[in-house]
Amino acid sequence: MQYSILAEAFENMESTRKRLELTQHLVELFEKTPQDVISKITYLLQGKLRPDFEGVELGVAEKLAMRAISKSSGIAIKKIEDEYNKGGDLGHAAAKILEQKTQTTFLVENITVERVYETLFKIARLEGSKSQDMKIKYISSLLNDANPLEATYILKILLGTLRLGVAENTVMDALAIAYSGNKENRKMLEHAYNVSSDLGKVAQIIATEGIKGIEEFKIELFNPIRPMLADRVKSENEVIEKMGNKFAIEYKLDGERVQIHIEGDKIELFSRSLEKISNYYPDIIEKIPKIFEAENAILEAEIVAINENTGDFLPFQELMHRRRKYKIEKAVKEYPITVNFFDVLYCNGKNCTELSYHERRKKLEKIVKENEFAKYIPMTIAETENEIEEFFENSINAGSEGLMLKMLDKPYQAGSRGSHWLKLKREYRNELGDSLDLVVIGGFFGKGRRTGSYGTLLLATYDENTDTFPSICKVGTGFTDESLDQLYQILNPKITIKKNPRINSEMEADVWFEPELVIEVVASEITLSPIHKTAINEIRKDAGLALRFPKFTGKIRVEKIVEDASTDEEVISLYKGQNKAAHDKNLM
Ligand code: ATP
Repeated sequence: MQYSILAEAFENMESTRKRLELTQHLVELFEKTPQDVISKITYLLQGKLRPDFEGVELGVAEKLAMRAISKSSGIAIKKIEDEYNKGGDLGHAAAKILEQKTQTTFLVENITVERVYETLFKIARLEGSKSQDMKIKYISSLLNDANPLEATYILKILLGTLRLGVAENTVMDALAIAYSGNKENRKMLEHAYNVSSDLGKVAQIIATEGIKGIEEFKIELFNPIRPMLADRVKSENEVIEKMGNKFAIEYKLDGERVQIHIEGDKIELFSRSLEKISNYYPDIIEKIPKIFEAENAILEAEIVAINENTGDFLPFQELMHRRRKYKIEKAVKEYPITVNFFDVLYCNGKNCTELSYHERRKKLEKIVKENEFAKYIPMTIAETENEIEEFFENSINAGSEGLMLKMLDKPYQAGSRGSHWLKLKREYRNELGDSLDLVVIGGFFGKGRRTGSYGTLLLATYDENTDTFPSICKVGTGFTDESLDQLYQILNPKITIKKNPRINSEMEADVWFEPELVIEVVASEITLSPIHKTAINEIRKDAGLALRFPKFTGKIRVEKIVEDASTDEEVISLYKGQNKAAHDKNLM
């Protein structure tokens, strides 16, 4: 397939933010796409080469891309930099530079999607001391044969700046229309995506086997399932209202969620955001196969750091010490854990997500044998507010965050946040407090004791509709010397010269960061704001929402990707809930 077809489609899509128009462009693109490149096109559309869980990253820096443009065009780097500074987009700057070149040279050959994809893939795989030169060679060879438009979009993919604003749902709408003639089939595609986390694979199947292939879509081992998530509730009373008369309650342990895929000796661990984390937990890799009594399975558990002497649960931050590349054996000894199982999604070659909670828990207890290291999450069946309250107190005393409440007769709904699972956390119960997971987008230099670190951070929510990060508050409290230091180390490599285009902020920061880190904050209240951009125009024209008295809780949420951060919708719903609570209180 000619790459120019894809580049033109990218250009059309970039010029609109309307979902219907985007869908239409995608449908037209899919109709021109041969079956054997559909998965590649699907990944490229999202600026990726493979599904996220495979961890294939391009990681090409601007400087290196400029060297490749210079090599291909024979134009000095300084001139390329000047062109870049004029517009702020290296893809478009390259097009301008190459336009000058194409006036003097002939295009050698047309480039295909397959060639671009294979070359990008080779670049992603390069490692070691010679890799820089090889990358430049590969990129410039593509640019040699690319016309200016093609070059723009090769560079945007390489630099990770391709932002078409096509959410996964829009891609699925278009796939359903293009290959089944019916947008309603999106639901089925969504299910396939939720149990495979691989949109390219879903696209491939509908393109080759049609909607029938999607109906028969199977869960596969070592292909992670998107996790089921819970709705927040504020009180025991609200639990009863939403769950009816009999339900399961489990401790909500404060650890790291893990999806364990296991077959014989082969075992792989995926995080909540479906990143492979097996390397951080060699103790799980070694010990779990020994207590596992089935042919194969996909299990879910919460990994929790413990005090080895007392067996008490320790807070999530302790697990941060495990996230390291080197000396992991030392960390295993110093930071012991337990694995606390709470679900089974697949077992002995069969899908278990359609079984009820009750049946899944029974199966789990059959195939995993408990010992010191592997436990079942404490669970009880309850009916009344008193029973919830008692279990809540036990759970807090044991060092957990609160409770998870689960409907007994409901299946596992992969990839969705809904009311079949609820969470009741300690902080939700105090009137104003609530925790939010926010994206760090900017920093302000510290003064006094905080010189040499960022005394204050600028934070953002995630706006799913526009795929952007609108600012919601500055946070300057809740930091310890240790956490300031840790954040400084993590954030420094993320500094950018130009604000990432996905950041939506009127407030100017001292430095801008690539939006890549999520931290947890609590606040006393959500208020309307003339400066901040979260939920802009949603409640009142020209006003956004902001957090009042935000405070960092100490939790750096390394297990969350930025698209998992609190969304504008969540903040709106908290804002409305808070106003309703205040109103109810006034009536009392
Ligand atoms: P949070 O920020 O509250 O941890 P989340 O967005 O990560 O929420 P939710 O589904 O809303 O995910 O809350 C459940 C989370 O709590 C899970 O992701 C998991 O890490 C953790 N957890 C602890 N105990 C349990 C349990 N018994 N069942 C399910 N999840 C549990």
